[in-house]
Amino acid sequence: MTDTTTDGVLGHRICPLCEAGCGLEIGRRDGRWLIRGDRLDPFSKGFLCPKGTALGALHEDPDRLRSPVIRRGDDPATATWEPVGWDEAFAEIADRLTAVVAAHGREALAVYVGNPNAHSHENAFFLPGLIRSLGTRHVYSASTVDQMPKHVSSGLLFGDPDAIPVPDLDRTDLLLMLGANPLESNGSLCTAPDFPGRLDALRRRGGRLVVVDPRRTRTATIADTHLAIRPGTDAHLLVGLAHVLLRDDLARPGRLAEWCRDLDHLPAAVAPFTPEAVGAVTGLGADAVETLARDLAAAPTAAVYARIGAHTTRFGSLAAWATDVVNVLTGNLDRPGGAMFTLSGHQSRGSGAGRGFTTGRWTGRVGGAPEVRGELPVAHLAEEILVPGPGQVRALFTVAGNPVLSTPDSARLDHALAGLDLMVSVDPWLNETTRRAHVVLPPPGPLARSHYDIGLAGLAVRNIAKWSPALLPHDGPPEWQILARLTAVIGGEAPDDDGRGVAEALVQARAQRVATKLGLDPAEVREAVRGPARSPADELLDLMLRSGAWGDGFGARADGLSLARLEADHHGLDLGPLVPRLPEVLRTTDGRIDLLPAPIRSDLDRLADDLHRDRAGHLVLVGRRHLRSNNSWLHNVPVLVKGRERCTLQVHPDDATRLGLRDGGRALVRSAVGQLDTPVEVTDEIRPGVVSLPHGWGHDLPGVRLRVAGERPGVNSNVLTDPGSIDPLSGTAELNGIPVEVEAVP
Ligand code: SF4
Repeated sequence: MTDTTTDGVLGHRICPLCEAGCGLEIGRRDGRWLIRGDRLDPFSKGFLCPKGTALGALHEDPDRLRSPVIRRGDDPATATWEPVGWDEAFAEIADRLTAVVAAHGREALAVYVGNPNAHSHENAFFLPGLIRSLGTRHVYSASTVDQMPKHVSSGLLFGDPDAIPVPDLDRTDLLLMLGANPLESNGSLCTAPDFPGRLDALRRRGGRLVVVDPRRTRTATIADTHLAIRPGTDAHLLVGLAHVLLRDDLARPGRLAEWCRDLDHLPAAVAPFTPEAVGAVTGLGADAVETLARDLAAAPTAAVYARIGAHTTRFGSLAAWATDVVNVLTGNLDRPGGAMFTLSGHQSRGSGAGRGFTTGRWTGRVGGAPEVRGELPVAHLAEEILVPGPGQVRALFTVAGNPVLSTPDSARLDHALAGLDLMVSVDPWLNETTRRAHVVLPPPGPLARSHYDIGLAGLAVRNIAKWSPALLPHDGPPEWQILARLTAVIGGEAPDDDGRGVAEALVQARAQRVATKLGLDPAEVREAVRGPARSPADELLDLMLRSGAWGDGFGARADGLSLARLEADHHGLDLGPLVPRLPEVLRTTDGRIDLLPAPIRSDLDRLADDLHRDRAGHLVLVGRRHLRSNNSWLHNVPVLVKGRERCTLQVHPDDATRLGLRDGGRALVRSAVGQLDTPVEVTDEIRPGVVSLPHGWGHDLPGVRLRVAGERPGVNSNVLTDPGSIDPLSGTAELNGIPVEVEAVP
């Protein structure tokens, strides 16, 4: 590690700011950061975006907390934050926690984990233990405002919620993309550095890109075809495509047929979704539906890929399911050029069958929603805090999350947080959520931690293995230790427990499992991953790497993968293109793809009813992405927020004329749950009848300590989102397609 006073190259670092995980070369000259793409990274090959260049500024953000703080005072506007030592912070937590548990039991405890946890292998390893230690069913995360529908569909189809097929971008002939804008987002559930370059290459080799989106996004502008769909109807379209493929005998599942259950029941299940019905509800017309289905059937290879605009709707799980059904019907699931399963460095091959996937092992106390992957819908968190009775949430732990900006009916959640007996946040900033905490525990900055993308490398469009070291010294305990200490304290250990016992138990337990799998001695396996300066998180990673599909098996394969090999080459390893993985990737009980699982079968009736819902006259709200933003947490970096106002309400000119709105004027937007006053941007980029606001803004709440963000706060779109409108299979909130009324503000 090097300190920042030294000019020169500090080293190489995987960018932790989005799913692309670009390799960066980071240096200093004359006291300034020099960050550029690592041309020797075999996956990103020198690509980076403006966010990556801001990593140094993010690390040095003067508003980033360097020590724990305890809030003194109840009103965020007047409260003060007292910097304290780590022992004092944990003592405060222990005192308050003891009182809450004594008075209300462990079911009064809750946890919320935010999106940045997906970018940290430390958190991936240490959060499950923390959650278990709470002993509560109140587990919430950003997944239920994001990708949970895909977990549900993969769980139901393949038996494994993490077996998510990704489009084989580099080889496909036709890419159908719904509700995704990777030229702004850089990809989601599809790890692909230089997504723009990959799409460009697709078109240069004669392939086609079809984008389905209510907005003419940057991605849509480079597409061969842009279909401006009515928001919230992606599931209808996808099921309609399946209908045409089956009706016209265009389905060619090929080798997939032998692994599929209920293929013969699909035609009846999708019968109501005729091109005429689907064309009307989507606003695309029957011809477009027919043409798209025939194009998919005729393409040598094709991949259907749907993301947040399709998933964060009332039919998100159906959209996710139908995406892969169409890939099956065209024979494109699990074949080069289609939608494939990644097998990156830390992953293991499966056995071809397993325990399957179920949801609803318990239900939410207030909303009655079924548990999914051990979680309840975050849309219901406010009510779980506010509604009295047994199991009412009295204490909340948040880790790297800002639900006051990123989850529905934000104003009510903010109000609910104010009444908690204990709130602890592991977070580097005093933001809209953490300003309500009693104690905030800051993790080190992004350049002071090693990095491996456990979750996201498993969604890459090539098989990869990339690890990077911490480039700067910690300015506090590492995050694994903060989480381990919290786990210990929640488990009843003394507040000065340093968490190392929790960490060692975790490493030993995993070493035991690995030893059992490989027929080795557990103590020797444990010792083999120990390193003089290695963190427990890196030891756990080494266990995964060495016992995984590419691993050295602790000496069994001389050229196999280990952390030592990645430590020797910070540019990372390319393990080759994706390869077919069926049937070993399946974990259904019978080792087959369950094409028509019972929850989907019954939810299709709800979708069929929705074909006939009267939509006339309603404006609907959708979100949007920007390349310089990532949810709520990059708005305090000057270089990422400069330029013209980005938090605007986009309105089509026809709607603007009808409503008396003008470009640069203001509008009042009302939904069933809230209202806000926002600047107007009139643009024909958006479909008539649709308005758009980006999410993650609204930094002007009292007590927020984000000086740059506070200068251009924007408005919080989640003031408008309705916690009562969720996808029932996944508990995911409807963030796209919200009915609103808009009027001009004089
Ligand atoms: S595309 Fe993503 S990973 Fe790459 S530099 Fe930008 S923010 Fe970082």
